[in-house]
Amino acid sequence: MWHYPEGITNHSPVWSRHGIRILPGPSSLWLDADGNRLPVPLFPGFDSLGALQHITRRGDDHSWFVLDKTILGSEFALSGSEQNPDLTGKDVRLLMQRVRPGAVGPVEAFAQESDEFIWADTPAELAAGMNALTGEDRIDAAALEQLVVERDRQVTSGLAKDLQVVATAQARQYVVDKLIRVAKPHRLLDPKHGPLLAVRLSVLTRKTLGGLHTDLEGRVLRPDRQVLPGLWAVGEAAGFGGGGVHGHRALEGTFLGGCLFTGLTAGRALAALD
Ligand SMILES: Cc1cc2nc3c(=O)[nH]c(=O)nc-3n(C[C@H](O)[C@H](O)[C@H](O)COP(=O)(O)OP(=O)(O)OC[C@H]3O[C@@H](n4cnc5c(N)ncnc54)[C@H](O)[C@@H]3O)c2cc1C
Repeated sequence: MWHYPEGITNHSPVWSRHGIRILPGPSSLWLDADGNRLPVPLFPGFDSLGALQHITRRGDDHSWFVLDKTILGSEFALSGSEQNPDLTGKDVRLLMQRVRPGAVGPVEAFAQESDEFIWADTPAELAAGMNALTGEDRIDAAALEQLVVERDRQVTSGLAKDLQVVATAQARQYVVDKLIRVAKPHRLLDPKHGPLLAVRLSVLTRKTLGGLHTDLEGRVLRPDRQVLPGLWAVGEAAGFGGGGVHGHRALEGTFLGGCLFTGLTAGRALAALD
């Protein structure tokens, strides 16, 4: 299976239990279900599978991003064609919204309509909202406040040893990320950037990997590894949508290549048949 740890429930689902993945920038604090920061280097957007393993090994099905309004506007993007009408509709005017301050329309809709987006003016209020959403008392208000204050000190001191703060500053060296992907470092408790926001993240399933076992010409093999006459499989049906050709930790964006390549190979083999 191919999963992501940064799933939110679609407030306007296209199908039942429809999850949307947040494609996050690096500034949000990522907390487990008990309010502890995920270990280095599991910062938002760094290592999805590592974060997934960390969260699920704890026996949890959720984790949290803690951020503020400014970070939401600069750093949240959503997966799914209906969440990116500028790209799918080739609408340049809409696309320009991504460079302007504030969240783009679909992100703003989640911010307003999703009960998994919890807004608050103080860490204590935020903790209360997080606990109310899960019906559990796992987020300690004082611990959350301390964590945010410590992170903020690292940002303002200019001598950060907090590796997430260092990595965020580093990400801004790339001009495109600086413009549209990574918020200027600031204190989460600075009211100019508020209110505070916690987003509950659930484990989201994108798709299955694996598929029919084939040889290198795309001929389907039976369990005894003998060719099943007359049947070829390519692409995801043959497990080449990532998991097969690129390994278990296949990089995002590398699926299509394996699908096309196996299509080409099987096509050539078929064309060579008498
Ligand atoms: C939201 C999303 C984002 C993605 N982003 C990327 C990306 O950025 N980069 C990347 O490399 N990959 C990406 N992928 C993965 C990539 O798109 C797929 O791995 C690839 O398109 C799979 O190609 P395929 O030909 O194997 O299968 P598909 O494209 O799924 O084609 C299978 C076709 O078979 C048809 N079909 C099914 N059943 C039948 C039937 N019984 N009879 C006739 N036809 C049938 C289906 O309608 C479909 O058209 C993404 C996938 C998703 C879902």
